[in-house]
Amino acid sequence: MNKRIVILGAGYGGMMTATRLQKMLNYNEAEVTLVNKHDYHYLTTWLHEPAAGTLDAERCQIEIESVIDTNRINFVKGTAESIDPNAKSVKLTDGQTLEYDYLVVGLGADPETFGIQGLKEYALGIRSINSVRLIKEHIEYMFAKYRSEPDKLEYLTIIVGGAGFTGIEFVGELGDRIPELCNQFDIDPSLVKIYSIEAAPTALPGFDPELVEYAMNILERKGVTFKINTPIKECNPDGVILATGEEIKAGTIVWTGGVRGNAIVENSGFETMRGRVKVDDFLRAPGHDNVFILGDCALIINEETNRPYPPTAQIAMQQGQTCAENLTSLIRGGELKKFTPEIKGTVASLGKGEAMGIVGSKKIYGSTASVMKKVIDNRYLYLLGGMGLLLKKSKL
Ligand code: FAD
Repeated sequence: MNKRIVILGAGYGGMMTATRLQKMLNYNEAEVTLVNKHDYHYLTTWLHEPAAGTLDAERCQIEIESVIDTNRINFVKGTAESIDPNAKSVKLTDGQTLEYDYLVVGLGADPETFGIQGLKEYALGIRSINSVRLIKEHIEYMFAKYRSEPDKLEYLTIIVGGAGFTGIEFVGELGDRIPELCNQFDIDPSLVKIYSIEAAPTALPGFDPELVEYAMNILERKGVTFKINTPIKECNPDGVILATGEEIKAGTIVWTGGVRGNAIVENSGFETMRGRVKVDDFLRAPGHDNVFILGDCALIINEETNRPYPPTAQIAMQQGQTCAENLTSLIRGGELKKFTPEIKGTVASLGKGEAMGIVGSKKIYGSTASVMKKVIDNRYLYLLGGMGLLLKKSKL
């Protein structure tokens, strides 16, 4: 009987595994099933834009069956509920059970709330197409509501918890969107407040200080107020309370302060650190040679710094490629390949026409960085779906 490969999650890691497998394996060499919550893949790395309302959410969606070859890969629209590594099966929420010989887990991340009271209940998150639609609609609703309750200035305040990569990209977009919203709702822009609040001693922890300073200057000019080295102690329906005791009232609170691996992994009995499995050299879960864990669910230590690599799409995609090669080897009886991330650079957008980052070892800023960001986005589209997808979805 053909080996059964089940891939959970059609994110960067899962999609890359599936599209590479469909190229590498011959017909009927294995039975490959891809399971995903929705019938579309979404471009998580673009989600700060639809969240702020500067890009239509639909632009970030790619129909899965337009990219995978359904003659080679069986697509199941379903939500994984649990994995039983001993029985080698996955349970879906609709009651289906899928059995596997090899499993690939690419279920992405859950928010890490660090136990901050009220965050789960009252803060929105940039996580999926549905969650960013909610953020955009919520901000607009707050602006509309302010028009009928003009004494409630807090409706015009937006708090973004976490000034890491996602938080910074989001406030950059907000800086562009707010003038447009003020125009639409006839609101004085000076009444709108955007707070970027970070517990660490710097914004963009891990980034080069010169790049951080550049980013903060640009964003301050766009109206963002930073509160760095300032942990949020509590979140409530009216705003946040900081560790300093200061209370900031806000109509919108968005939490971008951290992620952990999808809870399904931990709840299914895999050993985890912040929900992420410390995978072996070949991307397998320790003690489970037939389970590969990718992307935000996986933890890999950077030997140079002795710290985990931050979870990125860049690494998830590279893992998907190696995972497909290793699965092909397992089926054909070849050698497994070790995974080593190849960090090509990181570029953070700061809104329209502005970005900063590192490519290779070179720092880049402004419009050059912004063009580079688009090149990176387009490269992914090309890798995933060739010229057709690039022409359909490209931002250039
Ligand atoms: P994801 O891409 O998150 O995909 C997970 C998939 O699993 C989704 O399709 C989801 O619907 C599905 N799923 C979840 N639960 C279930 C379930 N129970 N059953 C079935 N399916 C399920 N990284 C970079 O490298 N560069 C960047 O510039 C960058 N920018 C970012 C900007 C933003 C706004 C954000 C939020 C993240 C950014 N990242 C960036 C990080 C990057 O997006 C993630 O590291 C990457 O998406 C992880 O890929 P993944 O394959 O692990 O999971």
